[in-house]
Amino acid sequence: GRCIGVFTSGGDSQGMNSAVRAVVRMGSYLGCKTYYIREGYQGMVDGGDHIVEATWASSSGIMQLGGTVIGSARCKEFRTLEGRLQAAENLIHRRITNLVVIGGDGSLTGANIFRQEWASLIQQLLDQGRISKEEFKDCEYLNIVGMVGSIDNDFCGTDMTIGTDTALHRIMESVDTISTTASSHQRAFVLEVMGRHCGYLALVGALATEADWVFIPEWPPEDGWEDTLCKKLQAERETGQRLNVILVAEGSIDRHGQPITASQVQNLITSRLKYDTRVTVLGHVQRGGSPSAFDRILGARMGAEAVLALMDATPDTPACVISLDGNQAVRVPLMECVERTQQVQKAMDQKNFEEAVRLRGKS
Ligand code: ATP
Repeated sequence: GRCIGVFTSGGDSQGMNSAVRAVVRMGSYLGCKTYYIREGYQGMVDGGDHIVEATWASSSGIMQLGGTVIGSARCKEFRTLEGRLQAAENLIHRRITNLVVIGGDGSLTGANIFRQEWASLIQQLLDQGRISKEEFKDCEYLNIVGMVGSIDNDFCGTDMTIGTDTALHRIMESVDTISTTASSHQRAFVLEVMGRHCGYLALVGALATEADWVFIPEWPPEDGWEDTLCKKLQAERETGQRLNVILVAEGSIDRHGQPITASQVQNLITSRLKYDTRVTVLGHVQRGGSPSAFDRILGARMGAEAVLALMDATPDTPACVISLDGNQAVRVPLMECVERTQQVQKAMDQKNFEEAVRLRGKS
């Protein structure tokens, strides 16, 4: 059977474990040997016991856990040729020529570079006597398939990334929890949620919690928003509402590119309206806790599809990433999606919001 290596890279997200489990199990079903590569590219470069054979049993009981049990890391060496040579050597000694990468756009880019370089890497390893002729022949091609794990839902080409739904649940639970105490004391709460370039969590979180106001990076409010916001909060109170909830995505800015922060909004409300106003920064709470049913199933379906895609891969097919389209797990070209995602980030940096939103939409 073929050998598959699976690893998680970049920021962790809930549902990654379910994806890893599905890769191991679909691999086993198809007669492949699957290896966990621990700590992302770092484990691939370090080798040794960072690359261990996966078993049915060791992939049990992990679906329920947040984060990634096989570890994730950022790895400087993999950005260098020597690092990638070392990584290739470690894979070849184990005959691993199929990789499943679960990470963000950086991790997927790294995998694609690795695949494009593969022929030259293995030639160098052979010339340097680091691999045998037999190993060289067995490992002529490298196949890669990606899945996107990210709570931000900031990747182009998929309706949802693994982890977003759970992060939304965390936000919703937090707002619900805070609402009871806010209501008792007639307070206003300003919650900072994650999303540096992408306001998805803040926007959908606000819709799901009846928030009074939301700030997202893609939509800087009109000048004079301070007055509008205060009027809105007052109007809510006049209808008998005892609390106010405002969500601020961490990358929010005004029309002049100045950051809008939770504490700034707090100061505004306290000074103008004299409401008792508190700030909560949700931070890593959003990345924590057990994955939602949606993320478990999403990871499972994507993981299974990833292995099927590896089995279908040929040396000439461009690498793919597994994405969710409606309710189907489908294969889309990896580099096209990565490039579009990077274009969105560039457009956001240039404050070209219309372009960013257009690029994010389906083509
Ligand atoms: P997140 O969205 O959570 O930040 P990411 O996958 O985009 O996830 P990065 O830090 O960009 O996170 O990338 C993770 C790792 O992937 C890097 O530490 C590095 O080892 C590898 N990597 C990223 N870009 C490249 C590249 N251009 N060449 C080689 N390796 C890369």
